[in-house]
Amino acid sequence: MALIVHKYGGTSMGSPDRIRNVAKRVAKWARAGHQMVVVPSAMSGETNRLLGLAKELSPTSSTPALMRELDMIAATGEQVSVGLLAIALQAEGMDAISYTGWQVPVATDSSYTKARIESIDDTKVRADLAAGKVVVITGFQGVDEGNNITTLGRGGSDTSAVAIAAAMKADECLIYTDVDGVYTTDPRIVPEARRLHTISFEEMLEMASLGSKVLQIRSVEFAGKYRVPMRVLSSFTPWDIDINEEAKSGTLITFEEDEKMEQAVVSGIAFNRDEAKVTLLGVPDKPGIAFQILGPVAEANIDVDVIIQNVSQDGKTDFSFTVHRNDYQRAIELLEKTVGPAVQAAKVIGDTRICKVSIVGIGMRSHVGIASKMFRSLSEEGINIQMITTSEIKTSVVIDEKYMELAVRALHRAFDLDQEKTA
Ligand code: ASP
Ligand code: MG
Repeated sequence: MALIVHKYGGTSMGSPDRIRNVAKRVAKWARAGHQMVVVPSAMSGETNRLLGLAKELSPTSSTPALMRELDMIAATGEQVSVGLLAIALQAEGMDAISYTGWQVPVATDSSYTKARIESIDDTKVRADLAAGKVVVITGFQGVDEGNNITTLGRGGSDTSAVAIAAAMKADECLIYTDVDGVYTTDPRIVPEARRLHTISFEEMLEMASLGSKVLQIRSVEFAGKYRVPMRVLSSFTPWDIDINEEAKSGTLITFEEDEKMEQAVVSGIAFNRDEAKVTLLGVPDKPGIAFQILGPVAEANIDVDVIIQNVSQDGKTDFSFTVHRNDYQRAIELLEKTVGPAVQAAKVIGDTRICKVSIVGIGMRSHVGIASKMFRSLSEEGINIQMITTSEIKTSVVIDEKYMELAVRALHRAFDLDQEKTA
């Protein structure tokens, strides 16, 4: 008997029929003798619908008071899901009970709309499992010190599931989704993309942070920190497929590099259209400038990604960085009104039509010339690189958004990701 956490995404929960399917699958696992905790997302489209309603009433940007209410509203999507799933499980003859984040409780900090989980009290859940119940817990939400409902950021149900698995020392966390695993890149862009049987935790972390939408990045961080065995697999296989076959399907996230069967230098291509670039032109090149610019940006809770500063010849330099597009307007305002004048920048400019394309692979540690191969492949397509950033296991470039698909396809080909690797 194992303790298993299943997580089901919005599409898998998208209709009563699909919820019934989820219930049948979970019941199969429970009947095989496992203790089951299930963490569903809101039904697909529901979180957008809820946040859309809020936006109709207040289109202005986010004050803390408003963000508190956004979480209050958005969290209801998951509350509906857990109730429906518990009912469906009961209809399958299971003893099932649902909980919201605050009922567990899942304690978070107070950063509304992107709260972090601080601790999970599993006492109640354990007692239920011991009593033979299937426990269904809302994804995406928690409660802060002041009893306010918080949410973990879009896609946060993955993180809820992994955090619950970590807190309960579950034997495995299975993330059921509408794709059958982690691919070399998005098959909608590159039809030749292949499913990876395994991916190292570090690569998964990079892929998630670089724009692969399969898993929320924090869920991968959690999995790494607590070494939660985690698998991404399809919820669209027939619910009654053989459980042993199901348990081996999808993509396993591994922690040991040598367990990795597919020893490609580059394992995947990630891309992201969510960023925008801002530039301060003509900034004095002197100590403390980066801090004077990025300090206030961080204080405004705006995440910064790629940063470049040029060498200067005349004591002036240009300073560019990327932010999430949702934060673009706030970033530009901040730079124009306060930061720019404070550092005597000549001008603030911005561009939202950019994208970031990255190659990821732990093999990059031990191979040289990978980045230059990337640059050659982009230059052969006539694509201009605006920014470059590298780490041990990835190289990213910022390019014009209109070349994104071309770049991803060219790189997928250049690194032979179209070809099945022999283990
Ligand atoms: N329902 C939330 C969202 O749409 C959380 C999730 O689905 O993971 O972002
Ligand atoms: Mg998701």
